[in-house]
Amino acid sequence: MKQEFAVIGLGRFGGSICRELSMEGMQVLAIDNDEEKVNEFKNIASHAVIADSTDETALKEIGIKNIDHVIVAIGENIQASILTAVILTDLDIKRITVKAQNDYHQKILNKIGIDEVVHPERDMGRRIAHHIISNNILDYLELSDEHSIVEVKAGRKMAGRTLIDLNIRANYGCNVVAIRRGDQMNVSPNAYDTLNENDVLIVIGADKDINRFEKHLVIDD
Ligand code: ATP
Repeated sequence: MKQEFAVIGLGRFGGSICRELSMEGMQVLAIDNDEEKVNEFKNIASHAVIADSTDETALKEIGIKNIDHVIVAIGENIQASILTAVILTDLDIKRITVKAQNDYHQKILNKIGIDEVVHPERDMGRRIAHHIISNNILDYLELSDEHSIVEVKAGRKMAGRTLIDLNIRANYGCNVVAIRRGDQMNVSPNAYDTLNENDVLIVIGADKDINRFEKHLVIDD
């Protein structure tokens, strides 16, 4: 049977999740305590209802227990977000994803047993910061508290050299897992191939190693 989703909080983030899931043909129940927001999603989501998610009875009445995956996208009102998360945990919802507004919010959500906590503003800030440091850093994705994956363009320091010559693993402790050249993706790059100026390297490693790699090989002097 098709998975059913619910999005609580139809601000920019929750609204965008709701739109994308609906566009992908998913069943989505859109929930907000603001009538105007709910009206906006009447023709987008499968169902759109006005409810205060801190009210357990109201959540039960709209059938939240039948939902496979609930996304809580209330940001500003941290208390409402936490209370909603507690109620959903008590109701044994199979999968719960909650948007955190800041690190404290994230810590509390982890403490009450929410496994999937997303922090879109912080993550996007980090990605943009890395791109600002160097135009050669195309993307930056956090894998854990200490590990990341980075997508970098072979700039002046790498172009014309081979992986064996750059010796990224030995010198910086990180691994080149793939190289993209035009629309070709090479997931087991040959250590003896010469890198071209616009090749894109996908590099995985510990943050401290990635930072050294970026400083020495990616950021132009
Ligand atoms: P964004 O940046 O994604 O726009 P935000 O972080 O500013 O969002 P808010 O605007 O605080 O987040 O909340 C998003 C939505 O959640 C709002 O539309 C708000 O009406 C709704 N919301 C807030 N509290 C509740 C609640 N208790 N029950 C249901 N919806 C709520």
